[in-house]
This record gives sequence, C-alpha cells and structure tokens, in this order.
Amino acid sequence: MIPLFERYPSIALRIPRLSFGEFPTPVERLPGLSRRLERDDLYIKRDDLSSRVYGGNKVRKLEFLLADALKQGALRVITSGGAGSNHALATAIYGKKAGLKTVLMLFRQPNSYSVRHNLIMNLASDAELIHHDTYQEHTQAFEETVRRYESADGKTPYVIPLGGSSPMGAIGYVNAGLELAAQITAGDIPPPARIYLALGTMGTAMGLLLGLKAAGVKTNLQAVRAVPAYVAGIDKCHLLFNQTNKLLREMDPSFPSCTLEPEDLTIRQEYFGEKYGLFTPEAVAAATLLRESDGIILDETYTGKAGAAFLADVHSDGDGPFLFWHTKSSRPLPPEALAADYRLLPVSLHCYFNKPVQPLDKEIF
Ligand SMILES: *Cc1c(COP(=O)(O)O)cnc(C)c1O
Repeated sequence: MIPLFERYPSIALRIPRLSFGEFPTPVERLPGLSRRLERDDLYIKRDDLSSRVYGGNKVRKLEFLLADALKQGALRVITSGGAGSNHALATAIYGKKAGLKTVLMLFRQPNSYSVRHNLIMNLASDAELIHHDTYQEHTQAFEETVRRYESADGKTPYVIPLGGSSPMGAIGYVNAGLELAAQITAGDIPPPARIYLALGTMGTAMGLLLGLKAAGVKTNLQAVRAVPAYVAGIDKCHLLFNQTNKLLREMDPSFPSCTLEPEDLTIRQEYFGEKYGLFTPEAVAAATLLRESDGIILDETYTGKAGAAFLADVHSDGDGPFLFWHTKSSRPLPPEALAADYRLLPVSLHCYFNKPVQPLDKEIF
C-alpha cells in the first residue's frame, strides 16, 4: 500500500494505479562524498532504482497515467519527447506491460550515446516512432497524428503530455513526498534543509513539493532547470501545483489545500548551458565526481546538471542536511536489446547512429 492511498482512502478508491516499481526507494548517505568534503549531512534519494526493469522518475508518473488510460478504455497511448527521451522510453516499456500500443512522437536533440541507447531500446518495446527535425514541426504534426489514430482505432488515444507532467502524472510524486515524509519519521534521514532535483516539465518537482507540504515537511526545493526557460517557469510551476492539488481535493476533500510559497522553491537557472540535451563541463564533472566517490551514475542531460548545483552548494558549505534526488534510471539496459540493428528504426533517426555524438560525451558503460 502506498502512503497516498493509506492516508487518503477515498483517493485510493477513485484513482487507479498500476504497480511497475518498487517502493519506497532507498534514502541513503553519500559516504564517499561526505568524507571528501568532511561533512556528514549529505543524502541521496534513489529513484534511479525505482524499478528493476527501467527506473528513474517516470515510473511513479506512469503508474498513474497508464492506469488512467486503461480506465478510460484507451487502446493506445501517444506521447512526445526529444529523440532520446527517458519519458518516451519509459512509456514504451510500461505501455507494453499495460497492454497498450505506444506511439512516440520525437523531435531532434543533441546526439549522445544515451540517445542511441534509448532509441534502440524503444525498438524492443514495440513502440511506433515518429521523428521531426524541429519542435515546431513536431507540434504541428501532433494533433493530426492523434486524429489519424483515433479514426484508425475507432477509439481516442490517451495523450500523455511531455514528460508525463499532467496533474495525474504529478500525483506519483505527491506520493513520493509522502514517502519521504515517512522515511523522515522513521529516522532514515533527518528533515532536509534543501532538496536538489533536475527540473524539466515540472511534474516531479511540483508533485514532490505538494506531497511534502501535505505531510507538513518544511524544506526548500532547489529545482535545477535542464530545459529551456519557456518550458519550466515559475508561473507554470504554480499552475501545475494548484491543478494537482485541486484534482486530489476533488477525489478527497480531506487532502489539504496547499499554497506554493516563494521560500519553498528556487529555480536554478545557471546550470542549463546552451540547450536541452547538450552536456556542460559542470555536468560532466559532477557525474565523474559522484561516480568516483559513491558509485552513483548520473546522466548529463538532467541529473548531471542538478548534481553540479548540488556539489557547488555543498562545497560552499551551506547549512544542511542536503538531499540529492536522483531521477535517472541507473539500471543497465539489456545488452541483447541494445545489440539490435539501428536500421530497423525509421530512416529519419539513423543520423543519431551514423553521425558522431557531441564532443563532451564519453561512453562509460
Ligand atoms: C524527465 C526527467 C527529469 C525531469 O522531470 P520533470 O518531471 O519532467 O520535471 C529529470 N531527470 C530525468 C533523468 C528525467 O528523465
């Protein structure tokens, strides 16, 4: 039983959930980093281990989103993301598990080994891939694609927004906030003064803050922007926070009415770099340091950028405890699936395989 359902039984009765992950995820100390920096207040929340199949932050969202899709009688889910999107891959993997057909509408992003791996893994999940060269072309084609499947299937596909960050998806992270609150109560971790997290489509950050506020945990979320500013701004954060709160209160009026206050959230702008999916030297350095100190594997699109902010702050000796919230799957992708021939992918995706990866990318696994 997850904490959200335990605490709010009418939500459990009214919102379905599929179980894909293993929860609670561990919260641990970072002994190697702590030794190096001579401090004892550094912790990590291991959502990289949220599932044995494919972990990361999208598991918690998809448990609610795909259950909602089935409840609505959908046969097919359609979602979108960059070519190497973790959300797109997670939707392909768990959509298949849920018995749904999956269509991934992808758009161009900087090339990396991780993009290649995710694209190849999509093949093993039987997802249909559609790729556009620009985000604009992608958005223009989106509605038409949904309508095309609607008439082909005789059923409206379930559309999952970018990153899975609808209020329904964000509920997965409201539960994560309650889960952390229970770990604090159990003494697994002292109440963190700050939590560090990569900010994309905001569902993770806003769901988490809402869950923590509902549980009465006071903290400051340092949301490190890893997407362009127009995707993740403070107004959109407020909107998603409030919509998610409203949805939960409709399901159960005893869920508290919460307000996002300025001291709850800091959006960190300075680690984004030039564009989405482009590695920065700071992200690469953060990934190297955490791998060497504690065997923690970060990616450079999201968690490396969040890790860079986290490391800069713990170096400058701010008041802890500090919690780094890991959001990228660290489960190895199955080698037999990765061995598939990329030429089975649509031709417009072959460029990720026959053109070089970005200069800062060094494959380490
Ligand atoms: C999607 C993603 C994020 C961002 O989460 P949002 O809920 O979209 O803000 C962070 N880290 C990783 C590894 C992701 O794949």
